[in-house]
Amino acid sequence: MKEKAHKERRQFLKLGVTSLAYLPLASIAYRVANAADLPLVDEKDPSALRLGYVHDAADVDTAKFPKRTGDAGAKQFCHNCALYQSQGEGGAAPCSIFPGKQVKAQGWCNAWVARKQ
Ligand code: SF4
Repeated sequence: MKEKAHKERRQFLKLGVTSLAYLPLASIAYRVANAADLPLVDEKDPSALRLGYVHDAADVDTAKFPKRTGDAGAKQFCHNCALYQSQGEGGAAPCSIFPGKQVKAQGWCNAWVARKQ
């Protein structure tokens, strides 16, 4: 009887430890799923306007934001910005400049910082 209780307790503890091991994976999956549900930043949002954010980097007002001029500037997109929280040149993903929102991979704003390779 005592042996059976010991065995059940061991199994219970094993299950608990195994469940805890999967917790980080579940957390990552939850965040990825939630990120996909975030709305896009509105280009007319005051902070987006202040930073010159546009969904399509070709639409940047370079007179107002000369950072995106020249050969080097033309290569700046959200997808190669250090603050873009995903990989890939398509779609959209969160950006730490706009909490709770997504920005387009082909977008741009004046806070652009080169992603380290
Ligand atoms: S900080 Fe980077 S990723 Fe975020 S909107 Fe600006 S250019 Fe795009």
